[in-house]
Amino acid sequence: MDSIYGITRKKLEAYFESINDKKFRATQVFEWLYRKKVNSFDEMTNLKKDLIEKLKEDFYFDDIKLVIKQEDELTNKYLFELNDNHRIEAVLMKHDYGNSICISSQIGCNMGCAFCQSGRLKKIRNLTVSEMLLQVMKVEEDLGERISHVVIMGIGEPFDNYDNVIDFVRIINDPFALAIGVRHITVSTCGLVPKIYALADENLDINLAISLHAPNNEIRSKIMKINNAYPVEEIIKAVKDYINKTNRRVTFEYIMLDGVNDTKECALELCNLIKGLNAYVNLIPYNETENIEFKRSNSSQISAFYDILKKNNVTSTIRREFGSNVSAACGQLRAENIEGEI
Ligand code: SAH
Repeated sequence: MDSIYGITRKKLEAYFESINDKKFRATQVFEWLYRKKVNSFDEMTNLKKDLIEKLKEDFYFDDIKLVIKQEDELTNKYLFELNDNHRIEAVLMKHDYGNSICISSQIGCNMGCAFCQSGRLKKIRNLTVSEMLLQVMKVEEDLGERISHVVIMGIGEPFDNYDNVIDFVRIINDPFALAIGVRHITVSTCGLVPKIYALADENLDINLAISLHAPNNEIRSKIMKINNAYPVEEIIKAVKDYINKTNRRVTFEYIMLDGVNDTKECALELCNLIKGLNAYVNLIPYNETENIEFKRSNSSQISAFYDILKKNNVTSTIRREFGSNVSAACGQLRAENIEGEI
């Protein structure tokens, strides 16, 4: 049995054809699920009885349980429990342009970035399409408002769960489901190069963010072990391909780590690396985490770095801080509440 929330409309159309029914049933089911938000097949009153019975045999209504919600003015942090008792987190940020949710894509993460809390909790498994979708739907329900933006930047490496992430994106983008535009969907990766090429060919044109965090292999390999498999120059090559094929501007994320990657030389090297690319840099003040030795660069260091980028015509922003009061830094809420898991 599959979760009914885990299937794209195209795949559901194929299912209806495979049982000698009509393709348009998929759209009808989508309207019940995502417009009228029913919780059972019995409520789908424009479907015949025997079809409802067949659907019940092949699909179930999945659920995830909200266990903790922490709130401050602009941020809500949610901890959910899955059917196998593992816990995942999602963060809702209230921007002036709309509600944006940051969702998790895996339970734990195997990428092992030295500065990241999530990497301390090894990957247990990938999230299903439906578990990703339910994060969005449950938070929308809790909020009583539409979520207009989705970033796949919570716990996990989305490109290590590529197929599910792509189906998830297709469902939230579907006009008969959540209808979130591709320009409002962002996926963030530590740089799994083959999947950057794959995404360029999906015809999805979502926003791509790359966790670069260093301007060269020497520094990057020290803080991100994935760099040994996919070094900086290969990432840049793949990003160029993505920009050529999609015409989209790519974001480079750059955490400011005191004394590690925040010198003027690093800033200049970064400019040389990405000069001429249709890209911008998001400078992120590091969120200090218990038991991890890295420190945040001070604000004058961050400003100096920013100024060098600006002088060299590299567009950049310094990320506004969200959620450090509610343990919103990557993996923190889950790390604090791990004991509930089996
Ligand atoms: N695996 C994906 C997405 C999840 S991490 C990726 O690497 O992009 C989301 C972002 O948060 C990444 O840029 C990651 O490097 C960054 N991050 C992790 N720990 C952080 C911390 N303590 N402070 C600030 N950013 C952090």
